[in-house]
Amino acid sequence: MGISNKLLQKICCPTCNGDLLSDELNMLQCNDCGKLFQIINGIPLFTNEKSAYDNLYNQIDFHKHPFGHNIDYAAWRKGKINKEIVKYLEKGSVLDDGGGYGYLKEFLGKENTYYNMEYSYEILNYDTSHLKSVGKGEELPFKDAIFDNIVSGDVLEHVYNKVKYLEETYRVLKPGGIFILNTPRTEWIESYKKSIWFWIPYLGHVTNRIKYLFRDKINLKTPEGVVDIPSNEVWLRNKLETIGYQIIVQKRTDNHLPGLSNKFWRKFADAFINPEKMGHCVFFVCKKE
Ligand SMILES: [Zn+2]
Repeated sequence: MGISNKLLQKICCPTCNGDLLSDELNMLQCNDCGKLFQIINGIPLFTNEKSAYDNLYNQIDFHKHPFGHNIDYAAWRKGKINKEIVKYLEKGSVLDDGGGYGYLKEFLGKENTYYNMEYSYEILNYDTSHLKSVGKGEELPFKDAIFDNIVSGDVLEHVYNKVKYLEETYRVLKPGGIFILNTPRTEWIESYKKSIWFWIPYLGHVTNRIKYLFRDKINLKTPEGVVDIPSNEVWLRNKLETIGYQIIVQKRTDNHLPGLSNKFWRKFADAFINPEKMGHCVFFVCKKE
């Protein structure tokens, strides 16, 4: 299967941003620096790094356990965030920058075209969409000012260089384009401490420790190289503005209770935890002027 023309019009060399030639079957070559990139099943591979995420995702059946969670929990949590994201999208192309198994596309209307770029080839096996590529967020394989929207949902915490990742979104976004960012924030425990639910993070922590003790039973090991670092809300807003973004919306989202995922806790969270006050994540809608 060759590469789609729609995708071909958007991609470029991630190293020098030069144009790519596709005269060879299953190969792309940079017109400027000469680098070669392989195409497998219509998916161009812009990084040869065998990512720690491939090793992690290899252990997970994403049909049954998205990111190792039970499917009801994953749909409940991500569903709410994705519904929030699509409210702010403009029509046209949407780059899901670290889009995982492509869950966001199920929330998009006909006015949007979905592109998924992932660091892990493994996870793209679970995404049935057709405009997929493998690359790094810090070195996007896309031309300048080429997307109408970029979405980054639960990705920034897993990126090695957060600032470079954000700068790259700005580069490939069209002027007037929308960038939506959702990522865990460092201060969420502080928000709980000020409420009657101050004990929830501790309970979640204990539950996670117990799950960790049984990690061999559930056969899930986190390989070295997988990072998970939340962001400070003030720091993140400053970075976005320094890069050039105009912040249209800043709020908190995600009332899931880390470590507590069963049906009881989901109902509890929906009844008692206000995401805008206590949310585990910070949510930005940004515009490139
Ligand atoms: Zn190049």
